[in-house]
Amino acid sequence: MTEPMLPVPYRVERRTVQTRDTATLRLVPAGDALPRFRPGQFTMLYARGIGEVAISISGDPSTEDGVLEQTVRDVGAVSHALHDAGPGTVLGVRGPFGRGWDVESARGGDVVIVAGGVGLAPLRPVVLAVLADRAAYGRVVLVAGARTPGDFLYRDEFAAWEPSIEVRRTVDQPADGWTGEVGFVTEPLASVGPLAARTTAFLCGPEPMMRFSARVLLRAGLAATDIRVSLERNMQCGTALCGHCQLGPLLLCRDGPVVKYAEAEPLLLVREL
Ligand SMILES: Cc1cc2nc3c(=O)[nH]c(=O)nc-3n(C[C@H](O)[C@H](O)[C@H](O)COP(=O)(O)OP(=O)(O)OC[C@H]3O[C@@H](n4cnc5c(N)ncnc54)[C@H](O)[C@@H]3O)c2cc1C
Repeated sequence: MTEPMLPVPYRVERRTVQTRDTATLRLVPAGDALPRFRPGQFTMLYARGIGEVAISISGDPSTEDGVLEQTVRDVGAVSHALHDAGPGTVLGVRGPFGRGWDVESARGGDVVIVAGGVGLAPLRPVVLAVLADRAAYGRVVLVAGARTPGDFLYRDEFAAWEPSIEVRRTVDQPADGWTGEVGFVTEPLASVGPLAARTTAFLCGPEPMMRFSARVLLRAGLAATDIRVSLERNMQCGTALCGHCQLGPLLLCRDGPVVKYAEAEPLLLVREL
């Protein structure tokens, strides 16, 4: 049994470079293992002597208990130390925390997944959960956007996903040889064609991207209760005690990070809430 406020030691078993500023760490318990995670949950990752930040769990939810994969973008002091942590480095980990995507509830219907940049990290477990139980879902469409072709996370995996799900990739700036789409994710999203009456959408990326994508999906007939977004705020305790991650009535470490768009939209429209 692990204590939610006490980091447990995990060792970096493997570090995979994803893009010029992003790496995925495979973490194995160096002592007690954390409880099994659900897609969409996050951990607080502690780089010794530097600090602790929230990072989504991006691994396969069917992996043996306690093993974690987490993809870190190097943006500041703590994420830099985590991003650079090589095999053998021991990190502290707390969690898993928060409400996940509840992928199971989408069974029997179509699924739309919309990811912007590093937003694909918490959505990879959704893709893997759907692939592991593919017959339980109808049409499955992944629309992923990135700044350039070299900025897509999990580039080596798209080929394995594509026979089973529809993958639409779009970039802001194409490079030589890019044959995919150019522009915002909303463009391929608006052209996915008819979706089943029962469709669930999972969105993660910059907030404007999620708002505009949600509008496209609402116009396509989805209910705001069937669109889920993952929201990032400053998370510190992870256990709904410190209040740093408050968004209106929500404490996102407990009530999120995944929230139904019906609940999120009025909050996201208030500037600097
Ligand atoms: C629930 C949750 C899940 C997350 N999952 C991931 C993940 O899977 N991979 C990943 O790389 N990051 C993820 N993040 C973001 C990560 O927590 C921040 O990048 C990290 O806290 C930055 O800390 P730092 O000390 O490295 O940089 P800081 O010095 O704190 O910040 C450096 C720069 O990054 C900006 N920044 C800081 N935090 C955020 C944030 N939350 N969103 C956007 N910009 C920010 C700051 O404004 C500043 O410009 C997640 C955040 C949350 C709340």
